[in-house]
Amino acid sequence: MTMESRLPQRLAVQLKDHSLPVEQIPDHCPVPLSDARKAELKAEITSHLKARDAVLIAHYYVDGEIQDLAEATGGFVSDSLEMARFGKRHAASTLIVAGVRFMGETAKILSPKKRVFMPTLKAECSLDLGCPPDEFEAFCDAHPDRTVVVYANTSARVKARSDWVVTSSVALPIVEHLHARGAKILWAPDRHLGRYIELKTGADMMLWRGACVVHDEFKTKGLKDLMKLYPEAGVLVHPESPEEVIALADAVGSTSGILKAATELPHTTFIVATDKGMFHKLKQKNPGKRFVEAPTAGDGATCKSCAHCPWMAMNHLQVLADTLRSEALMLANEIQVDPAVGKRAMVPLNRMLDFNFSKA
Ligand code: SF4
Repeated sequence: MTMESRLPQRLAVQLKDHSLPVEQIPDHCPVPLSDARKAELKAEITSHLKARDAVLIAHYYVDGEIQDLAEATGGFVSDSLEMARFGKRHAASTLIVAGVRFMGETAKILSPKKRVFMPTLKAECSLDLGCPPDEFEAFCDAHPDRTVVVYANTSARVKARSDWVVTSSVALPIVEHLHARGAKILWAPDRHLGRYIELKTGADMMLWRGACVVHDEFKTKGLKDLMKLYPEAGVLVHPESPEEVIALADAVGSTSGILKAATELPHTTFIVATDKGMFHKLKQKNPGKRFVEAPTAGDGATCKSCAHCPWMAMNHLQVLADTLRSEALMLANEIQVDPAVGKRAMVPLNRMLDFNFSKA
């Protein structure tokens, strides 16, 4: 009998490992393009955006060329929270979200009257895939006494079942606020971020056991070795990383938090434990500083991602141009959210957006 089969059903669900098996993770090496081809594609994308009254909104982890193009065409580059806010307030009738599916869904939920497209709907997230709505709803039903807090990296249906949606940039103050009011938390899906918040706040948190294929791979031993090589370096870690890696950090933060720490801390060299895509903006904002990738190799390494999200990597110039050029591909990559589910999901999303951090 396995340990899980001896447990009551509700605890077995909680303890089940929801990490994604390695064979379900796609290859993530786009064909390299010449500079001339990149320039052609950028010109073509710019003209399609204009013709379609569309604005390009990109995440920090996508290809640097897409990030630069978003900014050059009046769009935006940021974390998932700010991407959603930008999409909601921008006047364009059409949003093109370069990121992963849950980001497109969040944009659609917050802007139901706009059309939202992605370069490809194949761009998923291991946290979202590791939290199937039916299973999650059963888990919530088994714990009606708990306040359900879900990370933004979830499907519309999972958000719709929650009391609060949070991103990594706001999870801590929101859980602190709930804990101060005596709430017991049911947290999903990232177990490392959940554990980090549990330790920081002392809240009673029941954790879903999902993981990000990028951040789950950072290795303590490799990081310690690298810290010996760069003793002067500051260590910046995203809280989706394992607890032992977080313990070595000078600063722990979301993508925006890492960007802020790199600018504000006095170090001139940083070891960074987050997706490689982030290095584009880190270097742009801090031209005099040096950024070194934290290691994912070493004991127990699978190199599921090698520190670059395989789904974020699907957002590149060629696929974006192909989609914008073709009505059939646009339709195939349009985000659809059931209006009733979207209406329910909007409530916990707006709770996060309206949260008054100064009074928390
Ligand atoms: S980096 Fe991790 S959390 Fe972000 S989209 Fe990829 S799998 Fe999901």
